[in-house]
Amino acid sequence: MRIVVVGGVAAGMSAASRAKRFDPAVRVTVFERGATISYSACGLPYVIGGKVPGFERLMARTPEQMREQGIDVRLRHEVTDVDAAARTVTVLDREAGRTFTEPYDRLLIATGVSAVCPAWARTRLRGVHVLRDLSDGQAILASLPGASRACIVGGGYIGLELAEALRSRGLHVTLLEQAPEVAGRMLDRPYQRRIRTELERHGVEVRCGTAVEELTSQDGRVTTVQTSGGPVPADVVIVAVGVQPNVELARAAGARLGKTGAIAVDPRQATGVPGVYAAGDNTESTHRVTGQQVHIPLGLTANRMGRVAGVNMAGGDARFPGVVGTGIFKTFDLGAARTGLTQAEADRLGLRAVSVDVDSTDHAGYYPDAAPIHVRLTGEHGSGRLLGAQLIGPPESVKRVDVVAALLHGGGSVQDLFELDLAYAPPFSGVWDVLLVAADRLGRKLDEGEEAASDPHQER
Ligand code: FAD
Repeated sequence: MRIVVVGGVAAGMSAASRAKRFDPAVRVTVFERGATISYSACGLPYVIGGKVPGFERLMARTPEQMREQGIDVRLRHEVTDVDAAARTVTVLDREAGRTFTEPYDRLLIATGVSAVCPAWARTRLRGVHVLRDLSDGQAILASLPGASRACIVGGGYIGLELAEALRSRGLHVTLLEQAPEVAGRMLDRPYQRRIRTELERHGVEVRCGTAVEELTSQDGRVTTVQTSGGPVPADVVIVAVGVQPNVELARAAGARLGKTGAIAVDPRQATGVPGVYAAGDNTESTHRVTGQQVHIPLGLTANRMGRVAGVNMAGGDARFPGVVGTGIFKTFDLGAARTGLTQAEADRLGLRAVSVDVDSTDHAGYYPDAAPIHVRLTGEHGSGRLLGAQLIGPPESVKRVDVVAALLHGGGSVQDLFELDLAYAPPFSGVWDVLLVAADRLGRKLDEGEEAASDPHQER
């Protein structure tokens, strides 16, 4: 059995290792067009900001370690085409400049996503970057000496993490966001505003409702971002406006793309084209709360999809269980986390969703250093089903979102959450943890008549 994996990071290397472990007799070849495999892209902002001392700390496994496991890793090898009928891929060896054909019995397309690059950003100007992979991270870090002003375009979690990173390098940071608030795709409006306030508290100049028009430069280096709200001087510009799945090879293989634009797969990560699998950021998954296909490109999802694909390609039978839309990030002293649906997302889906907001402290109020924590809990009127949660507070405190994620995974109700036996001691929580308080209040709100329960004045 010959397994070919395209892409050597989270999904690809998880699949390769898992396949080899499942059946040591399979032959696994990984083609990676970049110069490294198996590193944590999630750690890039922390190296750029100086919290993690060097990019080498992000390396999980080296090609040599993989080769010792019997996995043939080929760096700087780009797969340029798939012939699904012949079961071959065309590979460009970028170093040697030669192209060859490689046969496979099972093929995994684990090619990730690319950063969206609007027309104004498609330039060769020095100082203009995206942050998608290790080489982008290295380029950003290399451009910082001598720079004093950074402009980040995009207020998603990567833009927010970079705002903190570049402030901690002493730069003046302007964050531009076209939408009315930052973190718009992750949180409801009142929680978005809290993130913005935290950025401003740490000296980030936030300009929402602002669109970039063009970049101006001098001697090949960017100097100014021209926006709908006027010019923003910048020595470094980082474009963080979203990602798009890399689906060219899937298309070439004849695989179907879903409504999200990512590759459609079954729970075994099979594309439907004989022998062809897909996993990771380029692939859709099923949202367990809505039953719909979604594209939520995140690290755990990519690793888990890769494991599932690896087992199946090696002859086993594993299933990807789906996701519940859990995410977490940190901005300066605030952590933000979400799972399931926000109120706004539930509204868009036409669900009869009801939310409560609870403002409390992350541990017992009388115990030293108690800090504010805010929880929005959302449930469904009629069924009592839990729909989602959003938390904002000290970074470690918002990881309690996992309790709600676990319940959502099993289709739990608001009452189920309220009944949980959660850990309590004053340094960790109030006797009634903030999640239990929220579940209690939401349960009572759901018990009221529908009209009383849905609050038209609550901000979505
Ligand atoms: P990738 O890691 O993108 O790997 C795909 C690989 O395929 C790439 O190395 C690429 O070079 C290679 N490739 C593509 N096309 C070809 C081809 N034709 N031939 C050969 N090779 C090819 N997720 C979280 O859950 N939490 C976080 O905090 C978090 N932070 C992040 C911060 C940053 C700055 C970034 C960029 C991402 C972050 N992520 C985070 C997302 C996480 O890194 C991804 O979900 C994960 O890396 C996806 O793994 P993947 O294997 O699907 O794709």
